[in-house]
Amino acid sequence: MTEERNTYIVRCGEVALKGQNKPYFERMLVERIKKVLKKFEGIEVKRVEGLIFVKTPADLSKDLVLKNVGRVFGVDSISPAVEIDISEGDAEAILDRIGRAAVEYMQKLIEEKGVKTFKIDAKRANKQFPVESPQIGRIIGAKVLIGCKVLSVDVHHPDCVLFVSVRRGLAYVYEQKVAGFGGLPLGTNGKGLVLLSGGIDSPVAAFMMAKRGMWIDAVHFHSYPYTSDRAWEKVQDLAKIVSQYCGRIRIHSINLLPIQEEIVRNCPEEETTILVRRFMMKIAERVAKETDCLMLITGENLGQVASQTAEALVVTDAAVQMPVMRPLIAMDKVDIMKIAREIDTYETSILPYEDCCTVFLPKHPATKPKLQRILESESRLDCETLIGAALENRETVTIYPED
Ligand code: ATP
Ligand code: MG
Repeated sequence: MTEERNTYIVRCGEVALKGQNKPYFERMLVERIKKVLKKFEGIEVKRVEGLIFVKTPADLSKDLVLKNVGRVFGVDSISPAVEIDISEGDAEAILDRIGRAAVEYMQKLIEEKGVKTFKIDAKRANKQFPVESPQIGRIIGAKVLIGCKVLSVDVHHPDCVLFVSVRRGLAYVYEQKVAGFGGLPLGTNGKGLVLLSGGIDSPVAAFMMAKRGMWIDAVHFHSYPYTSDRAWEKVQDLAKIVSQYCGRIRIHSINLLPIQEEIVRNCPEEETTILVRRFMMKIAERVAKETDCLMLITGENLGQVASQTAEALVVTDAAVQMPVMRPLIAMDKVDIMKIAREIDTYETSILPYEDCCTVFLPKHPATKPKLQRILESESRLDCETLIGAALENRETVTIYPED
């Protein structure tokens, strides 16, 4: 008897390659899947021989399940599947039962999608089952042809590939594989602090590090009242979108204006940008140490703007001791934008609100700054006091993924 439950097969990507640590990564992945489905009633998540099986009440929308589980890092793909009990009966009876389920499944696809051609991809994961995979495929294929008169087989360009998986005590038929993001489960790689602007790049950088299993916190710099409340709201909106993937994000919002004013008052105009960037890094490093973040993350990208030339990055990097991850460093802007669209941050990122970097923007920023010169300029400032005051006046908000 089929229960009123929906079944989903979840495949682990790289997690499956983890050798001795595999059980740990699989456990973390199961935990993450449970966490994103916690808001729904009656969910069951189980790990069985290298796959994860999710069961939900039949009335829970498939799209919702796919969307939520599809965002869990470590998930390679998901398939809504029909589960068939094959714990009893001989091979012939079992194949009959699978055949009936396959026919029913294909009838639905004919009705819903107008499928006309198909092929079967059968796998016998349980080697004790006496019929080999190609033969299972032929038998089920024949049953489908008999049960669905409008269908024909097309092995090259079928409208639908019907997967048949025979496992221990249970078999599955399914059609779709919905791709996940891959990566590693959150929480398997510590926590990092992203320097989050309102732009396109830094949310993508955060996403990419989180995809490798890293929790994310954020620091945002503003120049209030030169930058508006609306600009700050935009950053929180971005964090909200990113948190759908990364989980909870704490944002430390810091006013950079007093520091910018000091720089403008005391240092050469063309050095303003690079000096501001070094302050950002130093302040971020302090926040990171306080909040157990192991590294800083930026959306810097080689050559994109004056402050991201190789020479400028050397000078920026020298401001801190903590490792700085720049996951976008060698990417082209079009590819960064593609990811931004995929994770849904793009439309928010391009909203035209001012950024603290555009306040006091020098006419001709130094593109090949020399560290020695920059250090001399910095020595004219009371860096410790400025940084201390900036940290003191920070505002911290916590952003939770939306339900
Ligand atoms: P983005 O699209 O991320 O704004 P960008 O091309 O505008 O990047 P920059 O403004 O030079 O580049 O900033 C480079 C990186 O420095 C950003 O990706 C971000 O990590 C950090 N950054 C810049 N401005 C801010 C800010 N206001 N608050 C926090 N971090 C910032
Ligand atoms: Mg920016």
